[in-house]
Amino acid sequence: MHNETQQPTAILLFGATGDLAHRKLYPALYEIYKKTETPFAVIGIARRPWDHDRFREYVHSSLTENGKADRNEFLNRFYYYSLDVNNNEAYRGLKDLAERLDREYGLGGNRLFYLALAPEFFGTVTLNLKASGLTETAGFKRLIIEKPFGRDLKSAEALNTTIQSVFGEKEIYRIDHYLGKEMVQNIQVIRFANPIFESIWNNRYISNVQITVSETLGVGERAGYYDRTGALLDMVQNHLLQMTALTAMEPPSRLETEDIRDEKVKVLRSIRPVTVESARRDVVKGQYTKGVLPSGESVPGYREEENVPEDSETETFVAAKLFIDNFRWAGVPFYIRTGKRMAVKSTQIVIQFKDVPLNPYTSTFFAQEPNLLVIHVQPDEGLSLKLNAKAFTHKWDSKPITLEYCNNCSDVLGGPDAYERLLGDSLRGDSTNFTRWDEVALSWQFVEGITTAWKETNTPVRFYPAGSMGPAESDALLARDGFHWWPLTRINKN
Ligand code: NAP
Repeated sequence: MHNETQQPTAILLFGATGDLAHRKLYPALYEIYKKTETPFAVIGIARRPWDHDRFREYVHSSLTENGKADRNEFLNRFYYYSLDVNNNEAYRGLKDLAERLDREYGLGGNRLFYLALAPEFFGTVTLNLKASGLTETAGFKRLIIEKPFGRDLKSAEALNTTIQSVFGEKEIYRIDHYLGKEMVQNIQVIRFANPIFESIWNNRYISNVQITVSETLGVGERAGYYDRTGALLDMVQNHLLQMTALTAMEPPSRLETEDIRDEKVKVLRSIRPVTVESARRDVVKGQYTKGVLPSGESVPGYREEENVPEDSETETFVAAKLFIDNFRWAGVPFYIRTGKRMAVKSTQIVIQFKDVPLNPYTSTFFAQEPNLLVIHVQPDEGLSLKLNAKAFTHKWDSKPITLEYCNNCSDVLGGPDAYERLLGDSLRGDSTNFTRWDEVALSWQFVEGITTAWKETNTPVRFYPAGSMGPAESDALLARDGFHWWPLTRINKN
C-alpha cells in the first residue's frame, strides 16, 4: 500500500464498446477525474468502425445513465481506435495515436492497458502489445486484466507465462472487484484495529464462519458464457476465496502490498485440499428450477433459460465446508455459499462465537442465540454485533440485542464504488487490492480438487426452486455439525 499520486497516463481500453466499460469503467474514470484532476487520455479500442465523436457519444450516454454532469472537458480526452485484436498489423496505428497523445497531453509515456475483453484474447493482446512496441515506453507500463484468469490451473499458468513475458508481476493488476468493495477492505481494519475482536479471532472463541454471496438475478443474457463456467469458477475461485483469506489471515507485519498478499497466500495454502470423499460430504452443487422470487415474479428454471441445454449439469449454486489447517483455525469450519436466483441479494460474512461454558441466563420468552459479528458487504455496508442482554422482565431472563453500524446509509456520503477504487489504485501504482499470481494459482488448485471430484464421481446437480436459499443439502451441510445458516439480515436504517 502506498500513497503515490496519480500520474498523467494514457489509458488504452480494449473492449471500450462493451458492457463493463459502459456500466462501470466510464463512470469510475469520471469520478477519478473529477476528484483528482489526473491528466489522462483514453483510447477506446474495439472492432466496430466508430470515430472519436461516436465513441464520445457512447461514453456520454454512460455518464448520463449514471447521473454524472459537467462532462465536456472529460469527454474531450476520449479517442477511439478501431482494431481487431487478432490483427497484429493494426497495432501500429494504435502506437502512433498513443505517441501523439503522449505529446499532446504530456503523459510522459505512462501507459495503462486495460483488457475489458473476453478472456480468450488476454494472451493475444499482450503479445501484440509487445510486438508492436507499445510496451516500450519512456514511462510506466501496467496491465489490468479482467476475470476470469484462466479456466483451470493449467490454462491460468499458460496465460500467466504469456503475460509475464511482457509485463513484470508488479506491472500486472489482476482484477477481483470484490477487493475494491468498501467492506471487504474494511475486514482488515475491523480485525486488526480492534483488540476486542483480534484477541478472540481464533478457534478458542469462534465456532464457525459463514460467507455468503447470493444473487436474485438469473443468468440472463450471459447464459452461453455461464453454462461453460458455473458458480464454482465464476464466484468461488475468486471472490469467495479472497474473502475467506481476508477473514482468516494473520496480521501483516507492515501495511505494505506484498506483506498483505503474503498473509493471504498463507491462508490459501492452508486450506485443506478437497478429495473425492470430502467433496461428496462437504460440497453441494446446486441448480435452480422455476420458482417465484420474493418480489412475486415467476421465473424459469436454469435449464429453461435461452442458450442453456435442457440437460445442463452446470451449477448455479455452490455451498462448501472448508477447513484452514493452521494454528489459529484448526477445527473451525468455514462455510461458504453462492448462488443465483436466491431469495435475497446479499453478501455477508457472519462470525459465530462459541457460547459461554455455563450460561445461567436463559429465557422462556426469548430464543438463546450465540454472539454474532456480521460484516455486511452489500447491499448494506456495515457491521452488526449480536449480543445478549437482560430482558425487560422481572426475572433474570436474557434476550438477544443487536448493535449496528451502517456505512452507506447516508446518500450524501456515498463512497467510491469498487471500480473507481481499483482504477484509482492502478493509476497510483498500488496493487494491494489486486490478486498476485500465487494467490490465483492456489485458488485454482483448491477449486480443481472440487472439479476433479465432481468429474470422477459424475456428481449431479441438486435442484432448488428459484427464490429459495439453495438446495436442502446446503442446510444439511451445517445441520450435521449442529449449526444453521444465519438469515441474511439488513441493517436497520432508522
Ligand atoms: P462484452 O460486453 O461482450 O464486450 C466485449 C468487448 O470486446 C466489446 O467492446 C467488443 O467490441 C470487444 N471485442 C470483441 N471481440 C473483439 C476483437 N476481436 N477485437 C477487438 N475488440 C473485440 O463483454 P463485457 O461484459 O464488457 O466483459 C469484458 C470483460 O470483463 C470479460 O473478461 C468479463 O469476464 C469481464 N467482466 C465483465 C463484467 C460485466 O459486468 N460485464 C463483470 C466482471 C467481469 P466490438 O464488438 O466492437 O469489437
